[in-house]
Amino acid sequence: MMHQGVCPNCQAAEVYRGQATEGEGLSAGSFNAVVEVLAGRHPRTLRVDTYVCARCGHIELRIADPHDLDQLAHADGWEHIQPL
Ligand SMILES: [Zn+2]
Repeated sequence: MMHQGVCPNCQAAEVYRGQATEGEGLSAGSFNAVVEVLAGRHPRTLRVDTYVCARCGHIELRIADPHDLDQLAHADGWEHIQPL
């Protein structure tokens, strides 16, 4: 929901995104994270967008490119959590 501009914790429309960047380091004013995926012999780095609510401080991480998500099903070291 935060990528749509609304905080799921306090419902404020005060959401900021630290945009994912290619390469080393952080862009000014952003927090940046990556997800490492190793599928077979091909390591991939998935860029992550970070969303912060300026009212309550809630943080959400989200893979920047939805097309990268299907990598997880074939990756070593990522366990698919089965719902209870
Ligand atoms: Zn909030």
